[in-house]
Amino acid sequence: MSVVEIEGVARRFNNHRALNNVSIRIEQGEFFSLLGPSGCGKTTLLNIVAGFIAPDSGRVSLAGQEVTALPPYRRNIGMVFQNYALFPHLSVGENVAFGLKVRKLPRDEQQRRISEALQQVRLDGLAARMPHQLSGGQQQRVAIARALAIQPQVLLLDEPLSNLDARLRKEMQEELRALQQRVGITTILVTHDQEEALTLSDRIGILGQGELQQIGSPAVLYRQPANRFVAEFVGQANLFQVTAENGEYRAQHHFSAPDRPLRLAAAEFAPGSRLLILRPERIQFSATPSPTGVNQTEAVLSEVLFAGATLRLVCDLPGGGQLHLQPAEARFQRLPRIGERCWLSWRAEDLIVLPAQEVA
Ligand code: ATP
Repeated sequence: MSVVEIEGVARRFNNHRALNNVSIRIEQGEFFSLLGPSGCGKTTLLNIVAGFIAPDSGRVSLAGQEVTALPPYRRNIGMVFQNYALFPHLSVGENVAFGLKVRKLPRDEQQRRISEALQQVRLDGLAARMPHQLSGGQQQRVAIARALAIQPQVLLLDEPLSNLDARLRKEMQEELRALQQRVGITTILVTHDQEEALTLSDRIGILGQGELQQIGSPAVLYRQPANRFVAEFVGQANLFQVTAENGEYRAQHHFSAPDRPLRLAAAEFAPGSRLLILRPERIQFSATPSPTGVNQTEAVLSEVLFAGATLRLVCDLPGGGQLHLQPAEARFQRLPRIGERCWLSWRAEDLIVLPAQEVA
């Protein structure tokens, strides 16, 4: 039995379709992220699970019980918002106690749960502090402790780290993942940050324009994207539009001129017109050509960005179009320079062949 079951959920706002026929099952102890660009419907879906918004159609069940018509306080969920939403006039302990008081738990049980929750987020000893005496990261941890104290069936996190600076955000991501694993609580995170979703999640649901595009583990979404939207949203993607001829593909569009078709041999050959994806870090950069000519192109460097462990290079191709690549910095004794001629190559198995309907 799934802990969260979303079945055929749809929701409109005036004439705008925010969600269309979304179905997701989330299992016990899973860290599940809803990822997508701004306005794709992530928050609406989370609010439908929480009970703050009613769907126009479809059902939501928690632990096997349908809750579609129940108000938020009758659902056993803990929610954490982007702006923390702590009560400023209440101490840390009183903030964490809030849901316990509403539920009228005995005093000693309240105290036990407050210390346990503060311990879980590593804030033991700070119960008497006021929110304004805490850093942003600490305030967010109080919000998480408050959500955990009621021992919810599911923890809902709406962009909880987006108010933190980049460094603290990374730290909190690691903490959040460790905490979730320690407590074992089923969690749904809404984020538009693909790196955050990839590093934290067991599985991710990609939403685009109110439709669920694909559900999968981070590795599956990256290596086997179901469509162009997912390929371009999860990681960076070089796209080739190709037609099949004699057991190999010819790029006819964007990447090479018609008189110099680029020959591409994907490991997984499928006849017809296709879109192929090539990830930047899979492209080899070389000063000299290799003899085969297949899965290789001549190019001229047009951008060189130093990004620490990797370089980000953009190369102009002879027939127009560009390839983005991201080779390891350690591979270069001397950094390449703009205007240099180079050769780019890749292995057949690194070309991802999208399903036939994905041709532009
Ligand atoms: P963001 O990352 O920017 O928060 P999101 O993916 O969470 O975006 P939602 O907030 O779920 O997106 O909104 C989905 C769509 O529905 C958007 O086009 C939004 O403008 C619209 N929408 C959401 N809530 C309402 C509302 N109360 N009234 C009218 N339109 C709404």
